[in-house]
Amino acid sequence: MLLQQTRVAQAVPYYERLLRRYPSLRSLAGARTDELLKLWEGAGYYHRAWNLHATAQELVGRQGGRFPRTPAALEQLPGVGPYIARAIASLAFGVPVVALEANGLRVAARLTGERGDVRTAKVRQRLLRFLEHELPREAPGAFNEALMELGETVCTSHAPQCRVCPLGYRCAAFQTLADPGRLPTRRRRPPKPHHVAAIVALERGGRWLMQRRVEPGLLRGLWEFPGGRPEAGESLLAAARRELREETGVRAGTLRPVGTVHHAYSHFSVELHVYRGTVRRASPLPANARWLGPEDIRRHPLPRATVKALRLLGIGESLGRSKARPTR
Ligand code: SF4
Repeated sequence: MLLQQTRVAQAVPYYERLLRRYPSLRSLAGARTDELLKLWEGAGYYHRAWNLHATAQELVGRQGGRFPRTPAALEQLPGVGPYIARAIASLAFGVPVVALEANGLRVAARLTGERGDVRTAKVRQRLLRFLEHELPREAPGAFNEALMELGETVCTSHAPQCRVCPLGYRCAAFQTLADPGRLPTRRRRPPKPHHVAAIVALERGGRWLMQRRVEPGLLRGLWEFPGGRPEAGESLLAAARRELREETGVRAGTLRPVGTVHHAYSHFSVELHVYRGTVRRASPLPANARWLGPEDIRRHPLPRATVKALRLLGIGESLGRSKARPTR
């Protein structure tokens, strides 16, 4: 699950940290989600942490702590799609199936000289059939691993190293194209949406008002400052006040802009305008909001953009590097 959308080198430290903290399925199943998300902080795609937790609970609770062995049964687990199911089945249990991900698709497209768009189901099926034909039934795990590794290290996306590739002798792209890296054919992706929002850092007695995201989605369970996007015709400052009031019931006194934070997520980018202020009128907070001191904040799982905002405010020095820009 960690390897979904993440390179091995980036995933390894998280894998080791998770394994140290949760050395068994049972300990993972019993994990507090706040703590699990904190260990996951920075790896992104936080739904994977939720799925990992739910899968451990499912395996411990209903399947006697044992992994199912077939791709079809594995796919019933939360967050386990065809790729993960086939990877586990072949690598862990020797089931003869191809685990097809982006690296494998690219290698197969080049080996066969595929000109179609590999994101269409028809082309993927064609490439899958080709690889299934090649799959050695006695070593499916090694085959899948080799396919991924070749794509990761030799047959890379933009600069395939055909001269040192062990498959060059039978590769259609290498044999027929001046630049084998032109395959697979890619349609131009539409630009990622860019969102502008205002967030409010309210301080009271050395504590900061933060809230836990409860709605399902990208950052569920993580802690952030209240805020949101302006409505049509609304200024950022007005949006900051309104969002604060709507989300927490608290009314701000003076709000002062302290800078802007930029962050790119997988499918969109954000530009957060950070306002710092004081409380004009407090009210009982909703269940997902709290006043947190700097030490409490460090213990909670935080989105990257919030880490940057904290550093901008001078209260997150040990929380990671920042590209935030102060307001002059
Ligand atoms: S010969 Fe080149 S294009 Fe073909 S599989 Fe090897 S690295 Fe990829």
